[in-house]
Order: sequence, then C-alpha cells, then structure tokens
Amino acid sequence: MSLARRDILMGAAALATASSSRAVGQDRRVGFAIVGLGGYGLGVIIPQFANCRHSRLTALVSGDPAKARTVAARYGVPERSIYSYETFDRIRDNPDVDVVYVVLPNAMHAEYVVRAAKARKHVLCEKPMAVSAAECETMIAACKAAGRKLMIGYRCHFEPFNLEAMRLARSGAAGRSRYVVSEHGFVQHDPSKWRLKTALSGGGSLMDMGIYSLQAARYMSGEEPVAVTARASTDRSDPRFHEVEDMMQWTLDFPSGAIGQCMSMYSAAQNHILLMGDKGRIELEPATRYDGNHMWIGKDGREQEIVAPPPGPGKTMFAGQLDHMAQCVLTGSEPIVSGEEGLRDMRIIDAIYRSAREGRTVGL
Ligand code: NDP
Repeated sequence: MSLARRDILMGAAALATASSSRAVGQDRRVGFAIVGLGGYGLGVIIPQFANCRHSRLTALVSGDPAKARTVAARYGVPERSIYSYETFDRIRDNPDVDVVYVVLPNAMHAEYVVRAAKARKHVLCEKPMAVSAAECETMIAACKAAGRKLMIGYRCHFEPFNLEAMRLARSGAAGRSRYVVSEHGFVQHDPSKWRLKTALSGGGSLMDMGIYSLQAARYMSGEEPVAVTARASTDRSDPRFHEVEDMMQWTLDFPSGAIGQCMSMYSAAQNHILLMGDKGRIELEPATRYDGNHMWIGKDGREQEIVAPPPGPGKTMFAGQLDHMAQCVLTGSEPIVSGEEGLRDMRIIDAIYRSAREGRTVGL
C-alpha cells in the first residue's frame, strides 16, 4: 500500500477513534503498566499520565524493587501491582492492566512484547521496535494470535510540528517531493551505556537516532524507498565505539525519483528535517525534540516561520500518544503507528546495515 493511501486510512482511523471515543468509554481510563523505570519510562512517560484523558498508570515492572516502591508510592500504584522481570507474567491476572508499555533496552523489546501478548495485554513498545525484522514479525504474530493491539512509540506522529509538516507535505505545499534531508545525532559521552553494547542495543546511532531520520524521510516524502545505499564511519579506537557504529549515512531511492539523504551519529548534535519540492521547501530545526521545535516553509530564500496548531490545553505529544493507544483499546481501532509500521522501518534498517557492510546498494 502506498504511504499516501495509508495516511488517508490512518487519518480516517484517527477520526473514527476521536468521534467514537465520545460515545464509548468516556469515563473509563485504560490502565497502563510501565516496564523499565529508566530515563524515558520514569523520567518522561510516567509524569505524562497527569495530562491524559483516557489513560492511567496502574502497574510497574522493574528490576529495582526499592525504586519501584518509591515510584509506586509517588504515583498511587498499589504494591500488589509492582512486578519484577521474573514475576512479570503474573500481570495476566491483574484486571487493572490493559496495556503493557515496554520501555526497555532495544534487544529486550521482543521478549517483553511476546510475554505481554501471552498475558493477553495490549502492547505499546518503544522505538526501535526490535533489533531485527525477524523479531518484529514474531512480535506482530504474537499480538495477532492473542487478539491484542500493538503500537510503536513513534511520538513524532503526535507532535504538532511534525503533524503540520506531514499535512503541508501531503497538501502539496512544497510541490512534488524531490529531495529529503533528515539528520539526527547527539554526543554520546558515556562508554558504559547499554546503547553502546550490541547485545542490548542491536546497533549504534542508526538504531537509536537514525530511526527518526528514516521515519521522517518516509513521512515527509510520502513514499516507500525501493533501494538503499549506506556507509558507516566509526573511530574504533574510541572506547565508546568498540561495538557499535558512530555515524551512519544512507541514501534512499524513492519510486518517483525523489532521493532521501539521511544520517545518524553519536559524535555530533544534529536534529534537522528538510523536504525540497518543485514548488518550495518545508524545513524543521530542531525537528523532533521533546519541545522547542521550529518549522519554516519557503521558496527562493523567502522563508516563513510556521506556528504549529496547539495540541490543546494540557496536552503533550506524550499524552496524545498514550491516549491514542487507550482509544484504540476502547474502540477497537488500529493504532496509526502499528507493529507493521515498526516492521517497515526495521526491514529498511536491516538493509542499511547490509549495504554498509557489503559496500553496495541493497534493493528493498
Ligand atoms: P535507560 O537506560 O534510561 O532505562 C532503561 C531501563 O530498562 C532501566 O532503567 C531498567 O529499568 C531497565 N532495564 C532492564 N534490564 C536492563 C539492562 N540489562 N540494562 C539497562 N537497563 C535495563 O534507557 P531509556 O529509558 O533511555 O530507553 C529505553 C527505551 O526507550 C529504548 O528502547 C529507547 O530507544 C527508548 N526511548 C525512546 C525515546 C523516545 O523519544 N521515543 C526517548 C528515549 C528512549 P529498571 O531499573 O526499572 O529495571
């Protein structure tokens, strides 16, 4: 299915979700278990339940019982709803948990998504969905077999600037897409981080930040790539990069003849998306940060800054993402960023690594 057609279906699904949610479950809040109380799960996601209309925090899964008890007390989670990784499967018997949100290191995603599905829970899984396309297929199959929803934590699909950029691109504001630049990086300082260990991360900057570059190239061009040509550049004498790549740079060939030029890195900061069309350009910088993003639309050097529509009182992209999952559970609709969407990215990521390794263009 073309991306444009999928977008229309997604838009329709989102509208259906929004309108039916007025009729269904207005008072019911969907219960979430957060698995992994780290920088993102604890630092970013858990406080966002306060901004949600349809979602509430009902359970915690952690390898650190003392931390879990402290967090539970702070957010009103009962002690009986704290699990360790060993007791996780007992979550099946907890009626307060509808959704398991997996916020663990990348290589643990597949195991916990499959176990959550077997416990008959819906699943929200952080990006990257897994560390290979084969794992993604297993995760999708497990959720299908259990009759449960699977959504990937692609928060930019709930971020006002990225949503407006997608809308403008689809409406032809830049004309026919010809070239997309998408670059994401930050300086990774600590060599001991799991992100730098292949067994937990599955790869380097491509897995962590490159997925934003890839996503944006796809949602801004509105096309699916047919080939990829990649190369990596990594200083292996740097203790941070004994296992994973630092910089990955890749070109995507789109069916229309448009080209995507993408990059991820762990040795310099960058956060930029640019769509060039035959009638103008749409640019975001920073593009995908938690806040403070900026967007311009322009032609021939005359650029106008675009103010994205506000997400609504008290709303944030994180709360929007949680509530979207909750509405999918309440109404039976499919997430706009499904497991299949995560699988599409992971197939391309597998091809990017193969292209860089083999020094040739890989067809998709
Ligand atoms: P952190 O290292 O900060 O936290 C990961 C948590 O996972 C730990 O605190 C720990 O929680 C648990 N864990 C279980 N086993 C291990 C292990 N062997 N090594 C390390 N941690 C372990 O990572 P992040 O929170 O930054 O990232 C988690 C996931 O979220 C990743 O997949 C990442 O890509 C994604 N992410 C997404 C973001 C987004 O914007 N969408 C932003 C940041 C991250 P506990 O102590 O409770 O057991």
